[in-house]
Amino acid sequence: MRYLVVEPHPDDLVFFCGGTVAKLLAEGHEVHTLVVTDGEQGTLNRSYDTDKKLASVMREEELAACKVLGVEHVTFLGLKNHFLEPTHDLREKIVRHVRKIQPAAVLTIDPWNFDENPDHRAVGQVVLEACSFAHFHLFHPEHIEEGLETAMVAKVIFGKTPSPNTYVDISQFVEKKIAAALCYKSQIELMQMEGAARLKVLGKSSPIFDSPLEEVIPASIRMVAEEEGSRANLPMAESFHVRGLGILENIKDLVGGLDV
Ligand SMILES: [Zn+2]
Repeated sequence: MRYLVVEPHPDDLVFFCGGTVAKLLAEGHEVHTLVVTDGEQGTLNRSYDTDKKLASVMREEELAACKVLGVEHVTFLGLKNHFLEPTHDLREKIVRHVRKIQPAAVLTIDPWNFDENPDHRAVGQVVLEACSFAHFHLFHPEHIEEGLETAMVAKVIFGKTPSPNTYVDISQFVEKKIAAALCYKSQIELMQMEGAARLKVLGKSSPIFDSPLEEVIPASIRMVAEEEGSRANLPMAESFHVRGLGILENIKDLVGGLDV
């Protein structure tokens, strides 16, 4: 089966579904990713004096992480970080890509998860709409005139969700997820600087930010995976809300349920 991940920023795929993506690839599925922005403002390190510098570093980090996971099909959309909105224009771009890739299922971030990041909310919402309408030849007919075909997507799989209905056992793939996460040096540095600084304004500190995050991150990824797994009697898991599109959502129990 062919999957498409739509990630607002270069590091999203690894953190919300890296173990699952590694597993899908090991099972012989095909995984593509569309990176909507370059995450080009995500730093507190003043040596990045332009967003272009960070954008190119984050693209390199993304390609390195995707290589670790085995994701060969990476497309960068290059839209402006922190400025995404759920517009018809963004939806058209996603529909176009869905029609180009023809995935059976699309993974993205749950837009209804109290997320503070506007890009996460916008992408999640627009991806659901894009996948719901990509099969209509009268929806953005200019794509068809350009030679693209309509696309029939069966389900959208939301990660970072407050209402999971599916758990994927990633115990065999968690080390791959960790290795991929460690490719994002710029974002690990951000987590460390930002976490310590936010605590500081509260007059607090934590030993978490005293040790190199390269040491903390593997343990924290394992811990989160164990916590998720414990909710579904699995050793380690990533959780998702799988939503069938159109009538599939209504008849999913009749067809044996929808998994990732
Ligand atoms: Zn993100």
